Amino acid sequence: MSFKKFFFALIIIIIIISGMYIISGNQKETKQDLNNSDNQITKSEGSEFLMDTLIRIRIHDENSKQILEEAFNKVRFLENLLSKTNPESDISNINNNAKIKYVSVEDETYELLKEAKYFSNLTNGAFDPSIGPLVKLWGIGTEDQKIPSDEEIQKALELINYKNIIFAEDNKVMLSEDSMMIDLGAIAKGFAADYLIKYFKEENVESAFINMGGNVSVHGKKIDGSDWKVGIQDPDQSRGNIIAVVEGSDISVVTSGNYERYFTEDGIRYHHILNPETGYPAWNKIISSTIISSDSSYADALSTSLYILGVEKSFDLIKEFDHIYIVLVTEDNMIYASKELKEITTFTDDRFTVQYR
Ligand code: AMP
Ligand code: MG
Repeated sequence: MSFKKFFFALIIIIIIISGMYIISGNQKETKQDLNNSDNQITKSEGSEFLMDTLIRIRIHDENSKQILEEAFNKVRFLENLLSKTNPESDISNINNNAKIKYVSVEDETYELLKEAKYFSNLTNGAFDPSIGPLVKLWGIGTEDQKIPSDEEIQKALELINYKNIIFAEDNKVMLSEDSMMIDLGAIAKGFAADYLIKYFKEENVESAFINMGGNVSVHGKKIDGSDWKVGIQDPDQSRGNIIAVVEGSDISVVTSGNYERYFTEDGIRYHHILNPETGYPAWNKIISSTIISSDSSYADALSTSLYILGVEKSFDLIKEFDHIYIVLVTEDNMIYASKELKEITTFTDDRFTVQYR
């Protein structure tokens, strides 16, 4: 290809990509549109595709521009540690050295893996960051997605056991069995949101909004002093349609759903939240699970876990926490919500019957 042609092709690609950005940005914007009354000079906002998702951040601060830039640097830093596809990441390093040796990792990776193991214990293994081999086998959302054979599933299941993620002093981690694979897809975004919020606090940022796909975190109140409004995605409709609005400050709202990544075969939807007990996508009547918490790691890990556990076990599990509220949507158009949400949540779709518990 001549240089001229190459240059022309490059310009076309750039135009297409920026167009896609604007479109996908607008589609995912609902949560933000709900808050668009403010119009300050000190506001900076931006979006970037990182951690497998479009990340949008808005900051109100005198130094909002620098802080925004640093915020994206921080997400990039975390992505480089936690990505399982980047061969240089801490996670790839651990995966590639399964049963071979301990690997030294950054503080952030170590902390997150410890947290992940905590959630595995808490949920009796419904949440399992060693789910990697099963995620790879199903390939949901990739070109290789397929229904595996029972034999393949049994083989992958043998590798999945969070207890075999072992820790030693000085940030050392090892997978004790050959071919084990860590996948932090169910918690990494929550961890990243908390990481950014911590940074915003250190910088005394007054007000900020983070949207990472289905994960929203808000810091402080809106700049006009009112609460943020965060929409909960309608599991049956395209992105941007919501079933409820949650109002609050300093909260994280995280949803896991079967509509995020899936394929359909013979009328059955095979989605990306896998049950480590059966090896199949979780089918427990829930089609979306939302967690509202001050802590986004909790919200993220539990949104995935509760989806697997089903309604009864979910409410039992969260009983012991006073900072975790949930909204579970089931396939029979029921919404089960924590009673504490009554004051701060408006359900906006009368297709659903809401039951507070
Ligand atoms: P989320 O969208 O937060 O619910 O996370 C879903 C992602 O987490 C999947 O795409 C997998 O990468 C990973 N995952 C799937 N099933 C599990 C599980 N049972 N425990 C931990 N991670 C999982
Ligand atoms: Mg999650």
